[in-house]
Amino acid sequence: MLEVVPLGGLGEFGMNMLALSYAQTTIVVDAGVMFPDPELLGVDRIIPDFAYLQQRTPPAALILTHGHEDHIGAVPHVAPLVDGPIYGTPLTLALAEPKLQEHGIGSRPLVPVKPRQRITVGPFEIEFIRVTHSMPDCVALAIYTPAGVVVHTGDFKIDQTPINGDYFDVHRFAELGAAGVLALFADSTNIDRRGFTGSERDVTEAFEEIFTSAAGKLIVSAFASSIYRMQILVDLAARFDRKVAFVGRGMIQNSEIAQRLGHLHIPTGVQIRDSDVANHRPQDVLCITTGSQGEPLSALSRIAVDNHRFVKVTDDDTVVLSARAIPGNEKSIGRVINHLARRGADVIHEGIKHVHVSGHGSEEELKLMLSLVKPKYFVPIHGEYRQLSQHARVARKVFAARDPHPEILLAENGDVLLFDELGGRIAGKAPVGRVLIDGTKTGEIADEVLRDRRHLAEDGLVVPVVAINRQTGALEGVPDIITRGFVLEDGDGLLADGMRMLSEVVEQTSVEERTDQGLIKEKLRVELRRFFRKRSGRRPFVLPVIMEI
Ligand SMILES: [Zn+2]
Ligand SMILES: [Zn+2]
Repeated sequence: MLEVVPLGGLGEFGMNMLALSYAQTTIVVDAGVMFPDPELLGVDRIIPDFAYLQQRTPPAALILTHGHEDHIGAVPHVAPLVDGPIYGTPLTLALAEPKLQEHGIGSRPLVPVKPRQRITVGPFEIEFIRVTHSMPDCVALAIYTPAGVVVHTGDFKIDQTPINGDYFDVHRFAELGAAGVLALFADSTNIDRRGFTGSERDVTEAFEEIFTSAAGKLIVSAFASSIYRMQILVDLAARFDRKVAFVGRGMIQNSEIAQRLGHLHIPTGVQIRDSDVANHRPQDVLCITTGSQGEPLSALSRIAVDNHRFVKVTDDDTVVLSARAIPGNEKSIGRVINHLARRGADVIHEGIKHVHVSGHGSEEELKLMLSLVKPKYFVPIHGEYRQLSQHARVARKVFAARDPHPEILLAENGDVLLFDELGGRIAGKAPVGRVLIDGTKTGEIADEVLRDRRHLAEDGLVVPVVAINRQTGALEGVPDIITRGFVLEDGDGLLADGMRMLSEVVEQTSVEERTDQGLIKEKLRVELRRFFRKRSGRRPFVLPVIMEI
């Protein structure tokens, strides 16, 4: 009997994770994170609850479809539970590896795989199939089990003019469909969009216009994983005689990995360091930065409030947000745009010019996948419930005239899907949930409420209260620090130092930053957490309160 349990990504966007078990062997497909609202204080990321995996024989393999955070962000958290290798394409593994190292889990065997290659894990045989998406080296999976073949699409769109010539393997999906597929698990992200999504190349025209008209510096913000976007920008920069600087840790790191693995080609002499930007005339520079979601401490947020070490924005400059706003981030992004506009920059985003194209297939691409694979059972994955149910509706239309119809299993996280001689069905519920991670590298694993309680019980709560004059941005009086849940030796001295430190932090920020609640709160949170860790060895929950007077 084959048992499949989605542990994340069904009924929500992000933290995609699926467990498949046959007899005593379990394998896990993807281990992603979900990013909280950037202003949700005290939380850096959200990962799936692993209780279900902890109850079973340790998984014999972790299989990754591609290198986006919502598929690999939780790898260092789940890796200690896995008793076997981590499989993925070279780029996916190269993006996952630094995360493992950061968490001190360097010894995991990482096994690179190629499209059309097959590996065996116990009763499972797994074949990797090339798909196109918004980054290189993405695969879907055909998982051969004694109960039948399961196809997992990963994230995909059908890009017929891929930047690097790695084509979507339509043939393989068609062959699998012809041979008979038990179940298809398919990406539902863009089921709400009609037609086809379009190629990664589609943004080239808009960027050509921007390169032609930009008078000063050109700053383009995108996801650090948008390697195709980087390539398009680098090629245009070379054509328009601009030097390229990658700005922001993730962007620098990923551009290096992409170059090393041959996914990003930069002509000699085109790339400069971020610290070199100021040494070139503005009209000769293109900066590719992180921060497209308005993350308070990202490069673009810093640039926007004139607090970046190397990059300044003036009124000749053009800033392009070349990414979709992840729902929930609109406010932070709007704030960054306001700061940039106040500096006089021309800010261009998706709503103004076609500077972003999605990596997920729209309705027609998803229909094509359904009719190629024509499974016995169809399970929509990757999306909120409304996307999953819309995908089910579309599937019914696709198969309306086909006999027999595939059966649709509309599952949510934790639903136990069983496939045996009686067929496929949802039978029972496994434990699932979300775990909030707050930047401590140990990656505490627990139910979120329990975790918060334990955190508060062990390390206490710290609430810095800072009053700021709304008009002038001046600090009003001495900041106060309220603590709950811990007693410290020389607590008064420590708190007095903490208050002084807070005053200094506030005084060192610009008025613009001080009057920006999101920015100043995040700054105080980070500084105060560092202060308590250093001085008391504790990691209290820090919840800044800013009073505007
Ligand atoms: Zn993706
Ligand atoms: Zn995804």
